[in-house]
Parts: sequence; structure tokens; C-alpha cells
Amino acid sequence: MKFALVSDQRIEATPDAKGACPGCGDPVIAKCGKQKIWHWAHKGTRTCDPWWEPETEWHRAWKANFPNEQQEVRHQDAETGEWHIADVKVASGLVLEFQHSAISTDEIQSREAFYKKMLWIVDATRLKKTVAKIEGAFRSGKGWQLNGVRAIVGGLKNIPLEFRESRHVVLFDCGVELPFYCLLPGRVLDAATLCCYDRKSVVECLRTGSHFIDDAQLQNQLSASITDIATKLNVPVEAGFEFIVQYYELKKVEQALLRRTGLHRFRRRR
Ligand SMILES: [Zn+2]
Repeated sequence: MKFALVSDQRIEATPDAKGACPGCGDPVIAKCGKQKIWHWAHKGTRTCDPWWEPETEWHRAWKANFPNEQQEVRHQDAETGEWHIADVKVASGLVLEFQHSAISTDEIQSREAFYKKMLWIVDATRLKKTVAKIEGAFRSGKGWQLNGVRAIVGGLKNIPLEFRESRHVVLFDCGVELPFYCLLPGRVLDAATLCCYDRKSVVECLRTGSHFIDDAQLQNQLSASITDIATKLNVPVEAGFEFIVQYYELKKVEQALLRRTGLHRFRRRR
């Protein structure tokens, strides 16, 4: 943990310091070695929160985007008394869970049921293949565009298996060079929606306490635009969907051809 309680203050670990765990209240000792990030640990190896994972530079970099009081927040269910330490809880009550290590589908479901209002932020760089797969899915996937959001379909097989059925938005952090790729929980005509977002604006949005995406609204808009096209063409909705996909595929081909022939420069000048 980054913080422990020392005389009711949240304090970061310094050599030889002692404090209390903000979760269970037991004494914790400062671990300030050369190998791992300076942190607080319980005596012995046990951590009181079974969901807690050892922190990495990646966790700390993410946490540092938020005020201290929003980091490592004890979250308790008033009815059951169950508690866990949320990585970050922003002003609106939205919980951000930073996931670096492997996690089972069962644990994903448990955490989603417990936190209710939450967002996954997954370190996709842990496994090299994951980044390539997600990026590849996004680049090559058939899809369409709405309000600047490119949504791809049929790319789910490239998404890490354990997160495919997530009931909340999953943001894949593919490293500072790449934008965030987000898997939305709902489906549009049985198709998964994978969106792409600028890193800075997502972090800024979360810092101000709000969610960066209204996924239900976005997917409703996508549905509506498909239905609209289907109605205009007087074809079944599925055909409208196919039409949009084909339309953007054609546009991609057109852009690629223009680039190859150099005609896009001519077009711009006009
Ligand atoms: Zn504890």
C-alpha cells in the first residue's frame, strides 16, 4: 500500500516508519528497499484485502493522477459489511481498479458486483502479445464511426478472454505511445464495441470526477444510426448494420488508394 494511517493522517512509507492499515487497522511497517517500490506491508506475508495486488510503477503512476484522498479508499458495503480497498475512488463515487497481474473471470465478476460503479484500467503491456492483438483488432476490425468514436465489430477474439464478458467499461492501457482502447460492456446487434480514446483527455475527465464515456448512450446512438439507415434503405436492421460496416470498409479502401496514388494531396489542395 502507498498509504498508512499515522495519527489519523494518510502517510507514505519512509524508512523505519510505523502506521496502521487503512483497511483493517492492524499495524503495518514501511518497506523501503531497493527492489520494490516503497510501500507499507502487514507483518508477515498476509494482506487483509484478498483483492490487493502488489504495486508496480504502473499502479503508482496511475494513482499519482488523483488527489491523495482519492487513492486507496476503503469501500464498505453497508448491508453485508464486506470491505475492500479501492485503488482510486473519484469524486462521483466511481471506482477505478488498476489491474496489472492476471485475474480470473470469477474475481472480475466479484469485484464488479461489489463496487457497482466502476471502471477497469488494465495494463495490457504485461503481455506483449496483448497490445499487438488489441491494436490489430482495432486497425483491421470492421467498424463504423460516430461522433469521432470508431467502433469495431467482431474483434472480441483479440480481447483478453477474462474481460470479454465484463459488465463495466474496460480500458486497456497499451503504453504511453498508444491511445486507450476501451471495450464497452453492452452489445450493438450482438457486436462488441471497441473504442479508441486520447490518453490525456480520459485522464483529465476522470480527474474532474466523471466517467469519460457514457457507454449506454453511445451504444444507443450506434443502434439508432443503424436503424435509421435500415429504415431509409427499407431493409432489415441487420442489413443496415452490414451496410454501415461495408460503407466504412469502402471508405478505408478509398483512403488507402488515394494515399497510394498521391491523389489525397491533390484533394486537399482543392
Ligand atoms: Zn490490513
